[in-house]
Amino acid sequence: MYSKKRIAILGSTGSIGTQALQVIAAHPHVFEVEVLTAQRNADLLIEQARQVKPNAVVIADDAHYEKVKAALLPLDIKVYAGENALASVAQMDTIDLVLTALVGYSGLKPTIKAIEAGKNIALANKETLVVAGELITSLAAEKGVNIYPVDSEHSAIFQCLVGEFHNPIEKIILTASGGPFRGKKKNDLVHVTKAQALKHPNWTMGAKVTIDSATLMNKGLEVIEAKWLFKLKPHQVEVVVHPQSIIHSLVQFEDGSIKAQLGLPDMRLPIQFALAYPNRIKSEFPRFDFAHYPALTFEKPDTETFRNLALAFEALGRGGNMPCVLNAANEIAVNEFLNEKIGFLQMSDLVERCLSKMNYIASPSYEDYVNTDKETRIRAKELIN
Ligand code: MG
Repeated sequence: MYSKKRIAILGSTGSIGTQALQVIAAHPHVFEVEVLTAQRNADLLIEQARQVKPNAVVIADDAHYEKVKAALLPLDIKVYAGENALASVAQMDTIDLVLTALVGYSGLKPTIKAIEAGKNIALANKETLVVAGELITSLAAEKGVNIYPVDSEHSAIFQCLVGEFHNPIEKIILTASGGPFRGKKKNDLVHVTKAQALKHPNWTMGAKVTIDSATLMNKGLEVIEAKWLFKLKPHQVEVVVHPQSIIHSLVQFEDGSIKAQLGLPDMRLPIQFALAYPNRIKSEFPRFDFAHYPALTFEKPDTETFRNLALAFEALGRGGNMPCVLNAANEIAVNEFLNEKIGFLQMSDLVERCLSKMNYIASPSYEDYVNTDKETRIRAKELIN
C-alpha cells in the first residue's frame, strides 16, 4: 500500500482549501496532494500547484485554461478545464480522499462522482447534504464510502462519537455563535450593510458562509447536514447560541450523559481531524486557555428575528425537495444581498416565499434535485424583480 494519504482538494483557493494546504504542508510524511481545483482564481491555483506539485489541476472556469496550462505544463502537471473535468478528476485512481471545499450547490455533482468511484469524502461543502442528503448518504452506504465532516460543529459531534458508534444518540446540540447581530431585533436590522454582515466575531470564513452565519441560515443548513450525517430525526437536533465559540457542539446519549468537544475557533483542527482520521496528529495550533475565557455562556436562538433557522427546520420537517428549495433560494438571496440588490431581512422573506411557492416532491431523483434547484433560482430572481 502507498504510505501517504493522497488528497484531492476540490476548491483549493477558498478559505477551507487554503487552510487544508497549511495542514498538509505541516505533515509532508502523512499527506500528499494529488489534485487541486479552483473555480476562477487562476493565479492562486498556479501558485499553489507550483508549491505542492499535484498530479493534476482543474480550473472550472475555462476562460483561464490557457493561462494555467502555460504556467503548469512545464512542471509536468496535468491541466484540465470545465465543470465536467471537476467531476471526473475526483475519480482518479491515485486519490485516497477527496476534500470537498466547493461553495454551495456546485459541490453536489463532483461529490456524487467521487462517491461513485469509492473515494472517502472529507465534507466541507454542507450544501451537498442539504440539497440531496438522502441520495448522498444512501449512495455512500452502497459504495462503502465514509463521509468525514469538516464543518466544526459536525466534527465536534463526530469526535464525541468516536468509541460510541454503537450507542444510540438521544439528541445532539449544535452551538451557534449568534453572528455579528446577536441580540438585535428586526428593527435594528433593516439597514444593515454588507460590510457589517461580513464582520464575523469569531471565525474568518468565505463570504457565503459569513452571511449565512449573520442570518443564522448557516445553523439551519448545519441542522439539516447533521440529520443526514448522524441519521437523526429532526426533533433530535437542537441549537444553542454560545457566543464564545469554544464548545463546538455536544452529544447527549440515552443515559443522559452529554459529551462536548472544545477548542479555540480554528478551522485547521476539524480539517486535520477529517484528513487524518482515525489518527490525531501533533499540531502547533494555539491552545485554549481557561484564564482567557472566565465565562462560557449560552442562550436560546431568537428565531423571531432570525427566521432562517425556523425556515430550515420547516424545510427539514417537510422533507423531499424542500431543503433543496431552501438552499437554492438562499444562494440567490445571499448573492443579491452581496450585490446590494436586497436588504438583510429580505433574504428570509425570499426563502420563505420560495418554500411556499415551489412544487413539493416527496422522493426526488437526482434529476428532480437539478430541476428544483434551477426552477427555484428562476422563481427567486422573479420575486426580487
Ligand atoms: Mg459550522
